[in-house]
Amino acid sequence: MSIARIPARRGPGWQYFVMTEPRRCRWCRRVLPEREGPGRPKQFCSQRCRQWDWVSRQRANELELSEHELVIARHELDALHDDLYVLACAVDDAERDLATGRQTIHSLTDTLTWLLDAARPLRDRELSAPTPPPTNTS
Ligand SMILES: [Zn+2]
Repeated sequence: MSIARIPARRGPGWQYFVMTEPRRCRWCRRVLPEREGPGRPKQFCSQRCRQWDWVSRQRANELELSEHELVIARHELDALHDDLYVLACAVDDAERDLATGRQTIHSLTDTLTWLLDAARPLRDRELSAPTPPPTNTS
């Protein structure tokens, strides 16, 4: 939960809003459905994510990694860098287009489409959990 401070619409001062962030799966970061009723809130979207999280914590212990260190597959990091590079190019192009001050609805639509096409892979990105892990949490 976080608090947002927004200038008041009328007069000086601020309005405060409580922003509730959605709960996310600890492994894949998907938004978890709202839980109704009593009981502990869910931490994972699936048993597969629960198992991968357990396996990753076991491996982190073996490697004596701190909570702030992470091992990631080279191909996952390369793919992320590729998507970030495409997005950076799209942002550069959009900024250059807007700086000309000669936009039309058509050119703005093209710019926005290019920007969205570049951003969508990052929005849809998931940590891969391709197969059930070899060990069980039970
Ligand atoms: Zn998940």
